[in-house]
Amino acid sequence: MPAPNMELIVSLAKRRGFVFPSSEIYGGMAGFWDYGPLGVELKNNVKAAWWRQMVQLRDDIVGLDAAIIMNPRVWEASGHVSGFSDPMVDCRNCKFRFRADDLKGPPSEIACPNCGNRGTLTDARQFNLMFRTQVGPLEESASVAYLRPETAQGIFVNFDNVATTSRQKLPFGIAQIGKSFRNEITPGNFIFRDREFEQMEMEFFVHPAQEDKWFTYWVAERMRWWTDEMGIGPDRLRLRAHDRDELSHYSRQTTDVEYAFPMGWSELEGVADRGDFDLAAHAAASGKSLSLFDAASGEHVVPRVIEPAMGVDRAVLTVLLDGYHEELVAGEKRVVLRIKPTLAPIKAAVLPLLRNRPELVEVAQRLTADLKRRMSATYDDTASIGKLYRRQDEIGTPFCITVDVDSLTDGAATIRERDSMTQERVALSAIPERLGALLGGEATWAGVPRGSDTAQ
Ligand code: ATP
Repeated sequence: MPAPNMELIVSLAKRRGFVFPSSEIYGGMAGFWDYGPLGVELKNNVKAAWWRQMVQLRDDIVGLDAAIIMNPRVWEASGHVSGFSDPMVDCRNCKFRFRADDLKGPPSEIACPNCGNRGTLTDARQFNLMFRTQVGPLEESASVAYLRPETAQGIFVNFDNVATTSRQKLPFGIAQIGKSFRNEITPGNFIFRDREFEQMEMEFFVHPAQEDKWFTYWVAERMRWWTDEMGIGPDRLRLRAHDRDELSHYSRQTTDVEYAFPMGWSELEGVADRGDFDLAAHAAASGKSLSLFDAASGEHVVPRVIEPAMGVDRAVLTVLLDGYHEELVAGEKRVVLRIKPTLAPIKAAVLPLLRNRPELVEVAQRLTADLKRRMSATYDDTASIGKLYRRQDEIGTPFCITVDVDSLTDGAATIRERDSMTQERVALSAIPERLGALLGGEATWAGVPRGSDTAQ
């Protein structure tokens, strides 16, 4: 099934407060986005799912949070000052800029894709994607610094610090989540290609003899994560190995996890075999040894590095696209975001059936307060029950709890599940525990189809 078109997701994101254009009241800024109340929850849940899987559930990976601005020598040694660039072409007529590899032919032969003129495109020249800034009050060349274009280098320069303080033995990894910045020539496709974005990268250090084995392991493990932990449909995911001529300057082999985005198959995550490129380069440039004694082999080695690297914003976009469904319920369109409950911004919404009955409102608000202690929960009585359900369906809330007149006598309420729309009657006092168990995967849903007189 093809992914829904991007406009539907951009519109849902704006309308429901997931993502706004940055500084929108001033006309926005290309390549920059702000996450609204629901977006920040979704994004935090994506990051938490990665951190849990990569760091908290494993013995062989530890975390790090390095500074965004580092000594500029880092970027000289890593090859980014000389090599982190895209070929850029300008149109002399309309002044538009393009990535040469996005053009369908040599610049001298084709028409400008923006204004249509021929013979107006310049030859390609290399454009460095790093943002430059100044550190300190003096504007001189010695104060030039860069906003990091990847989080990985913060890990490499801390390799020795982490290895010695965490007493890890090969193989082991260091994981980091943080902002990265790239002055992309053509940002676009909503939050797919940004100038400021967030990455989740993990550098896994291995004995040279085990490099290929671990590369294969991480490619398979990352694919598993996308389907099992993120709930992305396997038919919209594929692996693609890079050809020799498209490898980054540091890579020995790379396989991308790609998703069937509306604009075509595109990279979601890259698993790169960086060899010893980075540790060797930083050892040479800094004069510090970045090798390790490997007790298993009795050798001193410069480890090889396998890196799964992904973008948080692309992951959020993928979750929204993949979860978006439209269906007909009783002749009316229902938009439902079928996302993993662990990722849902709100886990439970409490909805009183009648908002003009203070006793009902009180019961519902007390239940909301109870739920809030365990999960993100919300209370809403600002529309009819049918409308309230639709609101929650559209933002992916897995459970709605309806408090009705019977609740006052039977002390129970109805839990409705998002995808099946079936319902379960549960004692008010047992609802937080029941939902906790369902969300934690320790219980199975036992809902039954609703009665014909109730809203769906
Ligand atoms: P692309 O080929 O799309 O430019 P890349 O190969 O340069 O990406 P990497 O350097 O491998 O990307 O970065 C790792 C991950 O970071 C990517 O898989 C992607 O998810 C994310 N990423 C990279 N650039 C951007 C960007 N400009 N905006 C959002 N996410 C990005």
